[in-house]
Amino acid sequence: MNTYDVIVIGSGPAGNAAAYGFKEQGKKVAIIESDLWGGTCPNRGCDPKKMLMSGVEAQKRVSTMIGKGFKQVPNINWEDLMAFKRSYTDHVPENTKTGLDEAEIDRYQGQAEFVDAHNIMANDQTLSADQFLIATGQRPAVLPIDGSDLLQSSTDFLALEHLPKRVAFIGAGYIAFELAVIANAAGSEVHIIHHNERPLKEFDKELVDDLVNHLEAEGIHFHFNINIKSIELSQPNYKIVGEGFELMTDMVIGATGRVPNVEGLHLDRAGVAFDKRGIQVDDHLQTTQATIFACGDVLAKSQPKLTPVAGFEANYVVQAMKAGSTEKISYPLIPTIVFGDQRLARIGVSEKELAEHAKKYHSQTIDLSSWYTYQRINDQGASIKLVYDEQDQIVAITCLSQLADELINYLLLVLSKKMSHEEVAKYIFAYPSPASDLSYFI
Ligand SMILES: Cc1cc2nc3c(=O)[nH]c(=O)nc-3n(C[C@H](O)[C@H](O)[C@H](O)COP(=O)(O)OP(=O)(O)OC[C@H]3O[C@@H](n4cnc5c(N)ncnc54)[C@H](O)[C@@H]3O)c2cc1C
Repeated sequence: MNTYDVIVIGSGPAGNAAAYGFKEQGKKVAIIESDLWGGTCPNRGCDPKKMLMSGVEAQKRVSTMIGKGFKQVPNINWEDLMAFKRSYTDHVPENTKTGLDEAEIDRYQGQAEFVDAHNIMANDQTLSADQFLIATGQRPAVLPIDGSDLLQSSTDFLALEHLPKRVAFIGAGYIAFELAVIANAAGSEVHIIHHNERPLKEFDKELVDDLVNHLEAEGIHFHFNINIKSIELSQPNYKIVGEGFELMTDMVIGATGRVPNVEGLHLDRAGVAFDKRGIQVDDHLQTTQATIFACGDVLAKSQPKLTPVAGFEANYVVQAMKAGSTEKISYPLIPTIVFGDQRLARIGVSEKELAEHAKKYHSQTIDLSSWYTYQRINDQGASIKLVYDEQDQIVAITCLSQLADELINYLLLVLSKKMSHEEVAKYIFAYPSPASDLSYFI
């Protein structure tokens, strides 16, 4: 039987980063992957999405300049854009495997299932280890309705050979918004159907409403307060049926959240507790079994399930699993973004906390569209909302703009370092750029 110091389960951003970390500590390491090496982010998540989004960004940039040197909005050729995406994604599994082989980390392909707390099965082989790290991520949730087998997922969308004429997204989280923006820009008739009237609930409502208005003006159809009852195949199309609601479409994407990959692992045999949100860990990312740790999207946690968070936890857990104790994990500020032509980005105290203790906070929203940085690119919806506590300290920031992703990263540094206006003003930033406006916000 092959025996290791540590076995990592899952080769996504969390598992992979940790496997390299263990190896650097001189440990004998193996990693098990049941599907695509590299995991969700580079194969069917952030990276392919952003490859497709590149086409959208190029198109939208021209569309804001119509009548200002440009006459026509360019069409997106879906097949070519997909080929561009594949020029990246096709190489991910092989490159991941090569990297692991070069680092002398043993690889096993197969669904891992615990035999007990020290033994695991993968592809009919039993492996044993002193410690395990579970980093099995999540998969799309499937809405429990009649015809749920007709639903497709973000994974299917990101691999579409041909774009259908009509696409409907059920659910209005960040993945639905982003894929809807891509499909709409590429020429599909796009619908987003949501069970209440509060899409993107982790983001500020005022700016979410602005984003929805912007996307409606771009042609995306929103349907709020619709509870979907069933999906029917009405060859060659689909009929989405809710109470007092019917919609014909060519493709239905279920985007109603993601669920942790825990079932196949037989965690009960290893004494690892989990619930429907994921694996339960303490402040050291240790599970209910002392020799088994977990990190990344598979955790039951309140932090956003994102690639840089998974990487942060992986780096932490490599130290935490070393003999001797470490300090509790302490998360820094985490930026969250909805990508698109207009991007919505936020950092700081959660919307839930802001709503629950509304009296403690006050805010101001600044229209940025006439500021030179934004006027120059005709960023008509650009705005920023700053939320302050009772001591007038900024505790949360949301921005909506073509440049929101860049701006939020600068603001992240400013807030993390608790920089005052005077400190920010000491720096000379390249002008004109989002950074050169920083001292006006702080
Ligand atoms: C459409 C989409 C867009 C996204 N966009 C962004 C973005 O813009 N920015 C961002 O930061 N994040 C984004 N994310 C989230 C990001 O992809 C995840 O946070 C990240 O991949 C989590 O890494 P992980 O290693 O925890 O899990 P994963 O990347 O999911 O990796 C887990 C791996 O474990 C494997 N596995 C599962 N069960 C077993 C088993 N029993 N045995 C062996 N292997 C197993 C899986 O096959 C998978 O390869 C996006 C996700 C999606 C779906």
